[in-house]
Order: sequence, then C-alpha cells, then structure tokens
Amino acid sequence: MNIIVMKYGGTSVASIEKLKNIVNIVSKEVKKNKVIVVLSAMAGETNKLQSYLDHFISQNSIESDLVLTSGEQVTIGLLSLALKNNEIKSIPLLGWQIPIITDDNHEKAKILHIDNKRIHKYFENNDVIVLAGFQGITLDGKITSLGRGGSDTTAVAIASSVEAERCDIYTDVDGVFTTDPNIDENAKKISKMSYEEMLEMASTGAKVLHTRSVELAMKNNLTLQVLSSLTNETGTFIVDEKELIEKEIVSG
Ligand code: ADP
Ligand code: ASP
Ligand code: MG
Repeated sequence: MNIIVMKYGGTSVASIEKLKNIVNIVSKEVKKNKVIVVLSAMAGETNKLQSYLDHFISQNSIESDLVLTSGEQVTIGLLSLALKNNEIKSIPLLGWQIPIITDDNHEKAKILHIDNKRIHKYFENNDVIVLAGFQGITLDGKITSLGRGGSDTTAVAIASSVEAERCDIYTDVDGVFTTDPNIDENAKKISKMSYEEMLEMASTGAKVLHTRSVELAMKNNLTLQVLSSLTNETGTFIVDEKELIEKEIVSG
C-alpha cells in the first residue's frame, strides 16, 4: 500500500468551491493509493484568531495555541464531509488524535515524535485521512502550534513517518520561482532545486515553504513538490543535491 501526502494551504481551502476542487484531485489519487491530506485554516482565518488574542497578554500560552489552531478544525471537518458526499471513505483527525507529539514551546513547538500506528489502523477502513496541519500535543496533553506557516512541516513530518511515496505541497502559485511571482512579473519558475537552495531562498525572506519543513525533508531525504491546486501543471521538485548533480552530468 502506497501512501501519498498532499498539503493544501490557506488559499486552496478558502471556499467551498476550492474544497470541492480538492475532492477532484483526491478522487483521482485514491484509485491507486491511500492519501493523507494535510490542511491549513482558510486564508485569513489564523490572522483573525491572532487579532482576537491581541486584545490580551497571551503570547506563547496554552490559550494562544488553543485559539490559533482552531481554524484547521473547521477545514478538515468540511473537506472530510465533502469527500464522504462523493463516496470516498475519509476520516478527519486533529493533531492530538494521531498523536503528533511536540515539545512545550507554545507558538513555535517542535515535533518530537509521531506515533503512526493509528494512521495504519484508520487506513484499514478509510482511503483518506484528512489531518489538521500546524498543531500537535505535548506529552502532558497541552495543544501546541508549530509556528505560522507550520502546516508544511506537519505534511513533511507525517510523510517521513509513514514513508510516503510522495509529498505534494499545493499552494496558490505554480511552484517556487526565482523571486516572488506575486511581486515580480519577470519571476521564472524553477523546475528542480536542492534543499540547500530552498533553505537559502527562505533565509532571504521567501516564505513559500516553512523553513523547518525543508530542513526536515532534507534530513529524511524526502522529495517535495510545490505546485498549484488550481492549474494542472507540474510544480517545482525539491530534491537531494546529489540527484541534481547526477542529472547535470548525464544531460551534459
Ligand atoms: P500557503 O497558504 O499555500 O501555505 P504561502 O502564502 O505560505 O501559501 O506561500 C505561497 C506564497 O509564497 C505565494 O503566494 C507567493 O506570494 C509567496 N512567495 C514568496 N517567494 C516566493 C518564491 N520565490 N516562489 C514562489 N512563491 C513565493
Ligand atoms: N494556519 C496556519 C497559519 O496561517 C498554519 C498554516 O497555514 O500553515 O500560519
Ligand atoms: Mg504557507
């Protein structure tokens, strides 16, 4: 049984129409594989939750993480319903239900361990697991979040844990570009790049991927593809440097 991990960011889950579009993508994949779909909250939702917290002294607290992680509960519930309405066997799960164990650094928690036994158990009766991104739980039962943009890291961590066949990061642009395509109209799409190149880009402020997700992918040698949820185009592959060098030698 092959497992595919697909992560959808905020703009890709921002409306019921967009959720239905994800059902279309998933329905093709479940013919061949089991699928873990990792979701963000709807675009703007986590900012809205943060603005409520801004009325209090709340930083890095049990409460701030409880509030900040709530947007993902809505999207996984809705997508799982949409899948079931289309005869696809699906189960929605929050971070603690896996569980995804983290340290207790609220608002910037690090994943320590993922127990994947339940994932395999749920796949006995389901074809899709819809998992909330961005959240985890401490060993003593406190909800944590992984830092803004952290759903990418949830996707990479779960993909590494179950040794997924692929980890596709769906977003609102066609891949990783030389510069932000929403700012620079001359930006060029990169077809393949190394983890190191992606990390270098992130360090100069391009926050197309959560930095920790790239570090984790590099550590586990997991190939990532960044692609658009709205076009059918191949995205950008982020791979081991050795693979890139070998390709260059062959094509040269
Ligand atoms: P998501 O909500 O899907 O996680 P993000 O907003 O975190 O999406 O990341 C995608 C955004 O990253 C794009 O809309 C784009 O504006 C921005 N971005 C910044 N630099 C780059 C780059 N070099 N290549 C592609 N996108 C970039
Ligand atoms: N919803 C969270 C955020 O907006 C996590 C994510 O989207 O990756 O930061
Ligand atoms: Mg993001």
